[in-house]
Amino acid sequence: MSKMPVLFIGHGSPMNMVAHNDYTRSLEKLGKTLARPKAILVISAHYLTNGTYVTAADNPRMIYDFYGFPEELYSVKYSAPGAPEIAREITATTKRFGIERDEKWGLDHAAYAVLRHIFPQADIPVLELSIDYSPINQWKTKPLQYYYDLAKVLSPLREKGVLIIGSGNIVHNLRVIDFENVDAAVYPWARDFDERVKRCLTAGNYTALLDLNQMGLAAALAVPTLDHYLPMVQSLALQGKGEPLKFIFEGFQNASISMRAFQIG
Ligand code: ZN
Repeated sequence: MSKMPVLFIGHGSPMNMVAHNDYTRSLEKLGKTLARPKAILVISAHYLTNGTYVTAADNPRMIYDFYGFPEELYSVKYSAPGAPEIAREITATTKRFGIERDEKWGLDHAAYAVLRHIFPQADIPVLELSIDYSPINQWKTKPLQYYYDLAKVLSPLREKGVLIIGSGNIVHNLRVIDFENVDAAVYPWARDFDERVKRCLTAGNYTALLDLNQMGLAAALAVPTLDHYLPMVQSLALQGKGEPLKFIFEGFQNASISMRAFQIG
């Protein structure tokens, strides 16, 4: 089995689930270029836990973790099976990070909002990896390097046919978002930070990406909380030596959300 690529997908507003725009078309196109994976592991910006977990249900339930959106979004179904045997393998092979199995969590919108465009058949088993968010809200913040190192131990899964997808957003500020207008004028700091990240990704300079203090003032506005940024950090950790990174999509929605997406390998 050939090594599966790694994806980072900006998921943005849940409205993208039912939208037809340049962004959703880029995901549809992407799905047609990928070999069929044995399973998909989504590192979810919306699965925030105390400790790190991997979902282990046979049939993951739908989690509608968004509020105040049109009714049609709450009837979206993505009935992919789970992959409990891969969950077991992950916990067994990543002991030093103490990843545990979670039978209760299912699929949140960080997973199905993008998967329904990339793999609309929903016939490939899906599991999710959580983000250990317990220390981030406290003074004892774990360094980004911790999340990078944790993700690295997942890389053998790529050789076993597992497609790993980080689902978050490089720029994600909900305090100043324009919910009404998807095409609202983009904040200059949002564009600035997204461009900086693009340059780092192109140059392979991940040291700066792992230390937001090095990323200028815009970083504080672009990444007010780490939840949507961390899936990108963890996607990068899975890049093998000399493996190319290419952009699948770039652009903004709702003034303060970067929809940038990329593929490694
Ligand atoms: Zn989100």
